[in-house]
Amino acid sequence: MNRRLQGIGMTSRRTRERMVSRLKEQGITNPSVLAVILETPRHIFVEEAFASRAYEDTALPIGFNQTISQPYIVARMTELLLEKGPLDKVLEVGTGSGYQTAVLAQLARRVHSVERIYPLQQRARRCIQDLHLRNVRMKHSDGGWGWDDYAPYDGIIVTAAPPELPQPLLDQMARGGVMVIPIGDGRGQFLQRVTRTEVGFQAEIIEPVSFVPLQGGLL
Ligand code: SAM
Repeated sequence: MNRRLQGIGMTSRRTRERMVSRLKEQGITNPSVLAVILETPRHIFVEEAFASRAYEDTALPIGFNQTISQPYIVARMTELLLEKGPLDKVLEVGTGSGYQTAVLAQLARRVHSVERIYPLQQRARRCIQDLHLRNVRMKHSDGGWGWDDYAPYDGIIVTAAPPELPQPLLDQMARGGVMVIPIGDGRGQFLQRVTRTEVGFQAEIIEPVSFVPLQGGLL
């Protein structure tokens, strides 16, 4: 590795350590989630112009009016998904930059991720390949319909907000499975965790959030 890249690597490791300390202060406690965030280079998932800001606790633009989610939100949603037990098969709706995908891929046996904007999906695919994460399957499609071919999922994570719970995603949850999803519109959104029980669904309201809307149609 050349000296410049080695330098960037060392710097980002130190800034990631600071980011993980901040996440702990914000209440993230799951050691596996914190360990994976410490190891995952967020700067490769953002546009070069924003690389120096990659470890700030903020969402950043990734083009097409979309954003890479704030690190706290990635950590929180992952922690909520993992709280009920280890993850086997996960569906992610809204690949975006692919950063959340990379975090999930290190915590679940297999990750299926769908994105409606083709150039974002292609860029995310390259980042996932660069990190040699081989347990990720990606598709360019409207995730409001889920990804029926691999259902049921024991975890579903949705990174864009629909106004209400999408029925196809509920249908694709395994019994005992968990879905973490922002619900609402421009007037207000709440993160919810939905658990599928033997007899139905249980929803918990977690906290207010601000996500881009879940939109139909492909770009
Ligand atoms: N976790 C991602 C990250 O950190 O990069 C979040 C990306 S952004 C907040 C949400 C993504 O959801 C955007 O890339 C957007 O294009 C995508 N999206 C919105 N509606 C969608 C849909 N119906 N199907 C698939 N992806 C969708």
